[in-house]
Amino acid sequence: MRKIEAASRSFRWFAYLSGLAAMVAVIALGAAYERRSRGAARQEMRAEAQERLSVVRSDLQAIVDKDSGVGRALAGVTRYAPDMGQAAFSRLGAELLGPKPTIMHISAAPDLVVKLVYPLDPNRPVQGLDLRELPEEAWSLERARETGETVVSGPVELVQGGCGFVMRSPVFLDPGAGGVRPFWGLVSAIVSCDSLYAAAGLTDPDLGLDVTLSGRDGRVEDPLPFFGDPAVLDRDPVTTTVLLPSGAWRLSATPAGGWPPVPTPWGSRALFALASLLALVPIIGAAHLVEARQAELALNRDREAELSRLSWRLEFALAASKVGVWDVDLNTDAMFWDDRMKELFGFTGRDGPFNEADWVSVLHPDDRARATQAADMAVHGDGRFFVDYRVVLPDGTVRHVRDMAARYEGEGGVRRLVGLVWDMTVDVERQDELNMRRLEAEAATMAKSRFLAAMSHEIRTPMSGVLGLLRLMLDDPLPEKQWERAKIALTSAQSLLQILNDILDFSKLEAQQIKVAEENVDPRHLFQDVMELMAAPAEQKGLALELDVDPAVPERLFLDPMRLRQVLTNLLSNATKFTDAGRVSMRVGYVPDGTAGGGAGMLAVEVEDTGIGIATDHLGAIFRDFVQADDSLTRRAGGTGLGLAICRQLVEIMGGSIDVRSVSGMGSTFHFAVRTRLAPAVAPDPRVRRTEERDLPPLRVLLADDHATNQYLISAYLGAAGHNVAVVRNGAEAVEAAGTGRYDVVLMDVQMPEVDGLEATRRIRALPGSAGQVPIIALTANAMPEDRQACLDAGMNGYLSKPVDVLALHDALQHWRPDPPARPVAVA
Ligand code: ADP
Repeated sequence: MRKIEAASRSFRWFAYLSGLAAMVAVIALGAAYERRSRGAARQEMRAEAQERLSVVRSDLQAIVDKDSGVGRALAGVTRYAPDMGQAAFSRLGAELLGPKPTIMHISAAPDLVVKLVYPLDPNRPVQGLDLRELPEEAWSLERARETGETVVSGPVELVQGGCGFVMRSPVFLDPGAGGVRPFWGLVSAIVSCDSLYAAAGLTDPDLGLDVTLSGRDGRVEDPLPFFGDPAVLDRDPVTTTVLLPSGAWRLSATPAGGWPPVPTPWGSRALFALASLLALVPIIGAAHLVEARQAELALNRDREAELSRLSWRLEFALAASKVGVWDVDLNTDAMFWDDRMKELFGFTGRDGPFNEADWVSVLHPDDRARATQAADMAVHGDGRFFVDYRVVLPDGTVRHVRDMAARYEGEGGVRRLVGLVWDMTVDVERQDELNMRRLEAEAATMAKSRFLAAMSHEIRTPMSGVLGLLRLMLDDPLPEKQWERAKIALTSAQSLLQILNDILDFSKLEAQQIKVAEENVDPRHLFQDVMELMAAPAEQKGLALELDVDPAVPERLFLDPMRLRQVLTNLLSNATKFTDAGRVSMRVGYVPDGTAGGGAGMLAVEVEDTGIGIATDHLGAIFRDFVQADDSLTRRAGGTGLGLAICRQLVEIMGGSIDVRSVSGMGSTFHFAVRTRLAPAVAPDPRVRRTEERDLPPLRVLLADDHATNQYLISAYLGAAGHNVAVVRNGAEAVEAAGTGRYDVVLMDVQMPEVDGLEATRRIRALPGSAGQVPIIALTANAMPEDRQACLDAGMNGYLSKPVDVLALHDALQHWRPDPPARPVAVA
């Protein structure tokens, strides 16, 4: 990957550079092409100018040739007739020259019109001519004589005006003695410049050329032009040479007005620009592609790095977590286990592949069916596998593992089951131990609460004796001092019983043994009852007691009257206890729960007092166990700090919550709500009388109790109330006595030696006739609901808790006494 990346990086640079190079090359090519084409254009122009100039040159050359030819011809004639007169000479010359001659004058005689030509006598021989006397023309005379060639000199100014060229052709006589050819003279022809220029077309306005003629006197190397604008020479003119019989002229020309500029080849430039773009674009495109590819490679590399990190992490995690990984090819049934798998299943060191039989062989026999069935489901069913099972290793060690897998189906019919196994032995063992500990703890809590229940039962029995006897004592006329002491003893015993009850309740709540009962209750009656209980202590402290039940509170509700009463009593007695002046009021409201349906709702209660209040920093804690807001006060008022903790738990198990608002020194308001639901109206029981009606007729009561104090106390109460009491000490005796059919009601202790209360009840219920239907009221120290249920199940009609409360005893008798005339009582 890195190699590819490096290669693509260098390729990208290469592509950019070659793109650039291609562009430069195309531009250079374009420039060269342009240069060439401009050169060619220029060349063409030059060739054209050259061509035209050649025409001029040919014309000029022809004239010069012809004129010099005429000169030479006349020189030849003169050689043979040196004495020919000028007239004849001129005639001959004119004949030779033909029409429109450029030679305006030709002479071999002395009267040459050229002022620079030394005038000679007519055709006088020029031998002995002193050239020194002809300084200006001396060189041409000399040269003609020396070379024997025609010499063209000039242009020179002519005497008659204008300019002309002088062509001198030497004339030599026949060789004399010694072979020397004596020089006779010259034939001079004056060629008119204007005629010559015009004949050659140099002055033709349509020539289209600016022409100069240089090489004065035939000296071609002389650059100064004698015809035309010298500026032409600076404009890179085309040139050609006009050959003279001796020497030459140079013709230089440019097109008229100079060379025209070469047009810019925009078309070819555009073409090359396009070409350079065409060369550049694909290369740049390729470079971009390479760049994109490179970015992709970089991304891939990052992904690869990420993947390798993840896979490293996974491997590490797998190694660290000791998770075994397996997979099965479902088409071949070949199974692949990693090292950890082999170790977990006791196959360390064996090479794969493994198969299902290997797996099944290590499964615990009790888990085998379940695990293989789950595997079967994963293969043929939903593709998921999640099962905990045990593995038995060759050395007998048992391991608990969790096995999870998922089915994978890929292209080409690939089917695999891929899974993980991890060792849960330690977790399972820890969980087992925790469970054991929990069971132990639960057993301990249970034992504690049993112990407390037993203890409270044991304590309540003598306590009921103490309470009962004190009440009896107080009923008797006593000296005032003793009455007071007995009164204090009674109050102390009552407090003790309250504490005992609190502790019992608390331990039961802790052991989660308190279950909420659901009874069809008249809530108004219940609140009224509780308020009445509070009437005496409130009156003692001079406190007003108020009850306000909202009309919205339904007539009947399903509630646990005992637990609700307990919460209310606690709150009201706290309110009374911590209030010295003012009032204690209770407000009751009801909120139906529209969402829950089934007549559900919340019964809300507020207990407000004008007492000492609770400091803000204590408010949060008072519902906790054993918490008292203020030690000094509590010491004064007494209490265990358990009451509100019990209230909170009771309210919570009744599906509600409790809270308090209080201002120190101003009073407190406790409010709570419990879940309830509407109960149907109940027809009044004809046998139920108001508790105030204590005008019971004398009843015949059978009391079955093995405890002497109880026997004494209950007999004393009932006796004092005018009833007849027969006492038996066990169940067997109770059955026997009941069999006589002489009793209106039976008070039956539950725990008795030999035949207990429950068994005795069953036997009585088995008696024929009215004896078997006598109302039986249980006396039980066991406050648990199941104990009460056991009483009812055995056939008893009701129950009273020990220590027996006098009022409750009266109410029970009132409730269950047979109506005169006696009629069968339905068993509840
Ligand atoms: P105790 O049995 O000690 O009364 P509670 O749990 O019933 O225990 O109450 C806890 C503490 O909360 C009390 O000791 C008292 O300090 C405070 N408290 C409870 N009710 C009131 C109240 N109505 N007014 C002022 N203080 C109260």
